Amino acid sequence: MKISMLFDIMRWEERAILKALQDKNVEVQLYNVKEMNLDLQDPNYDFGDISLQRSTGYYRNLHSTAYVEFTGNRIINDFNSTIVTGNKMFTSLLLSQKRIRIPKTFVSFSNERFLKSFKEDFNGRAVTKPVTGSWGRMISLLNDYYAAMDVSEYKDYMYPLYQINYTQEYVNDFGRDLRVFIVNDQVIAGIYRYKSGEDWRTNTALGGRAEPLKITGEVEEIAQKVSAALGPGIYGMDILESKDGYFVNEVNGNTEFKNTVPVTGINIPDYIADYLISEARK
Ligand code: ADP
Ligand code: ZN
Ligand code: MG
Repeated sequence: MKISMLFDIMRWEERAILKALQDKNVEVQLYNVKEMNLDLQDPNYDFGDISLQRSTGYYRNLHSTAYVEFTGNRIINDFNSTIVTGNKMFTSLLLSQKRIRIPKTFVSFSNERFLKSFKEDFNGRAVTKPVTGSWGRMISLLNDYYAAMDVSEYKDYMYPLYQINYTQEYVNDFGRDLRVFIVNDQVIAGIYRYKSGEDWRTNTALGGRAEPLKITGEVEEIAQKVSAALGPGIYGMDILESKDGYFVNEVNGNTEFKNTVPVTGINIPDYIADYLISEARK
């Protein structure tokens, strides 16, 4: 059995998955995507029985995933779910279509329409974020109209993707949110993330504090629905919490878990290795 792993940065996560596979006597072929040169006519890489995508750069991730899949190989996560989870609007649309609760969200394509929506749909307070991105980057909590005006003006001078105005109600009644890990349709671990310090966001990449989460029936049910909507894969799902219940904020298709493993005691890399091995056998 041979399993390949595509990556660009060897983080704690990639090392841990590699070790878990090697401990199970699996041959692992590593591919640093930054060193690859893909022949589109005559496929020039061997991806083994199954491939794992771990590249952090979203566009490198998506394009190398396309290559693996279109040259007749299987990769986790697959191309389709990578497109959907790589874009917050597509994710929200899919979840909403499947009757999974998301925060109130509007998308507009011009500053004028965004500012009108900010007033009328969100009553002067909203979160706006790029449809593609992670680690909380460029996610803005707009508490007044002038802030909304200024942020939309900045976006005018940026790449057109940033001019897609994805805007949401602010949902945070308990100073925390939930992160749930799904591997092959199984809900395996969860943490609460509390904001810490000055930042209003909870990303652990921004210093958010992780605490163990006991997964309840309701969270389990939401996670199952999300997994069914996207198809089997490895996902990190963010849930916002309000007095009115849970709202799925986003689904990450290339998730970090360095902080979750020590906090929960759950060996996420081992689950991933077992999943890959079972897929490689198919
Ligand atoms: P990223 O892909 O960068 O993690 P998220 O949509 O998860 O993007 O947003 C990052 C953080 O910002 C979240 O973990 C949460 O703390 C905060 N946040 C994002 N959207 C909202 C929202 N609608 N209401 C309250 N907090 C939010
Ligand atoms: Zn994300
Ligand atoms: Mg997030």
